[in-house]
Amino acid sequence: MKLQEKFIELRNKRQGILGTNFYNFETLKGVLFAAKATEQPIILQLTKSSINYMGLKAAFNLAKSMLDDHGVEGWIHLDHGDSYELAAQCLDVGFDSVMIDASEQPLNDNIAITSKVVKLAKNYGANVEAELGYIAKLGQDKDENGFTQPEDAKQFVESTGIDALAVAIGTAHGFYDKTPKLDLKRLSDIASATDVTLVLHGGSGIPGESLRQAIDRGICKINLATEIKNIFMQTLKTKLATNEEIDLRKVFPTATDQVVKLVMGKLEIVRNIK
Ligand SMILES: [Zn+2]
Repeated sequence: MKLQEKFIELRNKRQGILGTNFYNFETLKGVLFAAKATEQPIILQLTKSSINYMGLKAAFNLAKSMLDDHGVEGWIHLDHGDSYELAAQCLDVGFDSVMIDASEQPLNDNIAITSKVVKLAKNYGANVEAELGYIAKLGQDKDENGFTQPEDAKQFVESTGIDALAVAIGTAHGFYDKTPKLDLKRLSDIASATDVTLVLHGGSGIPGESLRQAIDRGICKINLATEIKNIFMQTLKTKLATNEEIDLRKVFPTATDQVVKLVMGKLEIVRNIK
């Protein structure tokens, strides 16, 4: 099943799906174990830096074959693609979905580059996600002025033909200083202005109840990255501080297990069964 079709299926049931970033074999394994244990579908995401770190084909092939090995229903997605060229490379390798993020460019430029990616992705039957508004990236100021405007969202979706839209409604990338308050009224307005699949970036550190409310009001895809990196590294640090083991195959699983636990918890939330 195509990811676009899965979105429709889930949206009809008011359920969400996790887009989880992975960084290496161990984090990928953790995410897949969690998906398998909860029998839930999953989107495996790679950013440009993860692609540079692992290699495009290596990362794609690893994710693809591990999905098969574990019998998990999943899709491979480019997260925050910053150029047409990168999106094209990913589509060529076989990605099911790409994000083109030109959200920091003026609206017309964002529309132009996004439309170009949509046109290309059609040849592959791939899903395209874009971003409108300003979801603070790591180290950027969080500013309410950058929230997605419902009328802009309508125009953007109609002009570009995207399948999924990342909205700025109060989340940010990285961890939060204080628990963020999502602008749910704005979310409902965006959801009624357009029928595109809505995506929440910056899912790390958002309480489960807020995530559920967001899904009830139209969010379908929830991205999770920071918490995965964090739990993996914190667990590893603690383990290594008191351990002389040099066989990495005996050390990494402790950290992988924590990723499994984290993602299982999030999957229970996005499943959204009350
Ligand atoms: Zn993001």
